[in-house]
Amino acid sequence: MGRVRVRFAPSPTGYLHVGGARTALMNYLFARHHGGAFVLRIEDTDMERSSKGLEEQLLDTLLWLGLEWDEGPRIGGAYGPYRQSERVNLYKKYAEELVKAGKAYKVYATPEEIDQVRERLVASGKPPHFSAEDFREFTTPEREKEYSERGENPVIFFKMPRKSYRLADLIKGEITFKEGSIGDFVILRSNGLPIYNFACVVDDHDMEITHVIRGDDHLSNTLRQLAIYEAFEWRPPKFAHVSMILAPDGSKLSKRHGAVSVEEFAKQGILPEAMINFLALLGWSHPKGKEIMSLREMIETFDLDRVHSSSAVFDVRKLYWMNGVYIRNCDIDRIAQLATPYVISSGLMTEEQINTNMRWFKKAVDAVRSSVELLSELPEKLKIFVEEPEISEEIVDSVKEKGLRQVFQELRDAFESIENWAPEAIAEAVKKVLKDFKVNRKDFYKSLRKLLTGMEEGPELLNVIYLLGRGKVLSRLEKLNQ
Ligand code: GLU
Repeated sequence: MGRVRVRFAPSPTGYLHVGGARTALMNYLFARHHGGAFVLRIEDTDMERSSKGLEEQLLDTLLWLGLEWDEGPRIGGAYGPYRQSERVNLYKKYAEELVKAGKAYKVYATPEEIDQVRERLVASGKPPHFSAEDFREFTTPEREKEYSERGENPVIFFKMPRKSYRLADLIKGEITFKEGSIGDFVILRSNGLPIYNFACVVDDHDMEITHVIRGDDHLSNTLRQLAIYEAFEWRPPKFAHVSMILAPDGSKLSKRHGAVSVEEFAKQGILPEAMINFLALLGWSHPKGKEIMSLREMIETFDLDRVHSSSAVFDVRKLYWMNGVYIRNCDIDRIAQLATPYVISSGLMTEEQINTNMRWFKKAVDAVRSSVELLSELPEKLKIFVEEPEISEEIVDSVKEKGLRQVFQELRDAFESIENWAPEAIAEAVKKVLKDFKVNRKDFYKSLRKLLTGMEEGPELLNVIYLLGRGKVLSRLEKLNQ
């Protein structure tokens, strides 16, 4: 294989759908695995739906995922420009070439007139497949003159050869496109902008793309693209069509199934490495069946032969589970940093409070992180260290009933006399009290937790005591004397 060159070619018309992100990831992994180039091309010829703001957001999201491109916007490269809106002259030139070669033709008609031709075809019982004869009245010298006097341009149609096409797809295997399934189609609009299929072929050829890895929703486009390659006598790249991602109910994954964009998941507090790990396993599997793996491991083991030809099911619970694993194993400094904006926006602590208590904050986050799957769940869990709990009379009474009043009184005094408020000293104090009083340990710990936090369960109790701080612990134990 020569040097691999692949591309991700998004249209900047919205958020990055998880399907698009998976396509980007597969291209990235394939390029890195084979020591090739990962090109980013912005397909922004739909001027009404594309915007610079959305493009910037898209690039930022790709970088957030860690999918750095080797050529493309922001960094340039030898095959630029990488934005289709900056390449329109190239498309025009190539479209004219096809016209000269008799493989495309100009039609001097408005979109409405073209629609009328389609309707006529349908009314006469034919499939809506255009051919040059259908446009005879719009290719006359008079029409041409009218257009040029008004300074308007014709539409350019590609003459679709009436034959079958074959494709050896790297994922789907042999595919045959039957003769006559489509008719002639537009490649250049009258405003000079190309249609996707045309721009895509010109660019993939011009950028020397060796492999096109994309969703199988593009298969019908591939037929058109193969015909265009043939018309230019260009060698097409190899194609690998990845099956769509389905929702658990078997339908196409869409907004009604909940979050579907990478940006939304990022907001919920999915870590980029968890997102990447999860996306990689949508349609691909590690040779040893490994589930949790780093980007490096994916690069080492990724290849198209392990991409399944059947559809992958998007199971968001698995994504959350995986994220929980990453949150637990992540470097604590980073998790604390990632947790900060969530804690601030929840109103639990201010930025200043976090910064001045950074050591404490890290320990508090560390104490609760194993109980969450999303960063956004952290503030709720951190509440026990910050907010004053509701300690009901019922709780106080039940402690008294269990004969623990005196025990906790002693514990309070022991805590008070600790010199350095540290986990070891706290453990020591608890141990001593438990030795002095022969109480049921389970009752002791359960009641202590309730009295200090108002909760039945939570992080490791001695750690909670330490993180609450002496002041809070003493005042809550004193409730028994009121
Ligand atoms: N702009 C197209 C899309 O976003 C690119 C498809 C392709 O990879 O050729 O679907």
